[in-house]
Amino acid sequence: MSDHTDWLPFWQDFRLLDLQIFDDRVCVVLAPDRARLACGICAKPCRQVHERVRRSVRDLPMLGMPVFLDLTLYRLDCAGCGRHLQRVPWLDRHARLTRRLAQAVAECCARMPVAHVADMFGLHWGTVRRLDHQRLQALVELLPTPRPRRLIMDEFALFKGHRYATVILDADTRRVLYVTQGRSRRAIRPFFEQLGPEGRARIEAVAMDMNTAFDLEVRAQCQSARIVYDLFHVIAKYGREVISRVRVDAANQLRHDRPARRVVKQAHWLLLRNPASLNEREQVRLDEVLQANKPIMTVHIMKEGLRSLWTAPDAWEWRRRWRQWHAHAAESGIPALMHFASVLKPYWRGILARVRWPMHTGQLEGINNKIKVIKRMAYGYRDIDYFFLKIKAAFPGNAR
Ligand SMILES: [Zn+2]
Repeated sequence: MSDHTDWLPFWQDFRLLDLQIFDDRVCVVLAPDRARLACGICAKPCRQVHERVRRSVRDLPMLGMPVFLDLTLYRLDCAGCGRHLQRVPWLDRHARLTRRLAQAVAECCARMPVAHVADMFGLHWGTVRRLDHQRLQALVELLPTPRPRRLIMDEFALFKGHRYATVILDADTRRVLYVTQGRSRRAIRPFFEQLGPEGRARIEAVAMDMNTAFDLEVRAQCQSARIVYDLFHVIAKYGREVISRVRVDAANQLRHDRPARRVVKQAHWLLLRNPASLNEREQVRLDEVLQANKPIMTVHIMKEGLRSLWTAPDAWEWRRRWRQWHAHAAESGIPALMHFASVLKPYWRGILARVRWPMHTGQLEGINNKIKVIKRMAYGYRDIDYFFLKIKAAFPGNAR
């Protein structure tokens, strides 16, 4: 819990008249302290009661049951503001939930799916989502105007369909600046329009996956920006198109050698992992597999070679590694690897640019994972705006 509710004595300005415990609810009867009546608009003391009204308001659960506040409220005639409902320090105007309940619900929404929160508090999920939406909106609106210099662009699948969404991040602050449906040039154009000419001129580098439409739009919008291809995507693509392919081929070749074939088949995840993170037993198994199959060993070594292109200390060293890597690929005689190398070749500028414009590629992986979690929590109601707002609020960035 935070801010105003901490120091506010609850029931402030009210008197507790009764507390009734039923089988399915707790009912608290409250009436205003007449000595403390104040206008709901200007908050000045006011004694001119026009009428009484009753309102039922939900509060935090108690004894495992929902709590209903049976409130008597006064409509007052304020000299300055006219006729208005009295001020209630712990209740927003027209609200049917106390401020502290709304806050607790919203805080739970940051950690749990809406349906669970609704169950926990005995509220309708529509109410819970509305509260969470308000909280997130307020959070996002409080963020300072971004002044990004380096961007990261990525796409992700929306729910289970084949529709995609694009996310744009400030690479320096890790703040999500923009989320939109689609992955076309047109989808990201409004982002650059919002940046304005000055903002666009400030962009120095933009990291992205190869094979997207983003590079054309970035080139058209930000003349001084460099395109940087992201290691995370290239390695993922390499895993899918080269390592998996070679592994399947090897398993097929070993059709008549069942134990060897099993080792190769099971090795998939070992090959995809970072060698440094393997334990001793896994390392031994990996060695066995690699010895058993030369193409697998080759593509595995080549993966490390590929990775090293992103860590070259300078352009000369990068050039040396790039040429060496392509020479090895050409000599390997492994069709999947040779094809991958030929597809990679035209993108050399974007890979070399990484040497001058280092971007933490781990960021993207982390963000991808977090978006998946949010997606899972948002599943069940296809409210794209709410989903996107949740993503924005989850990456508010760290101020520079
Ligand atoms: Zn007033």
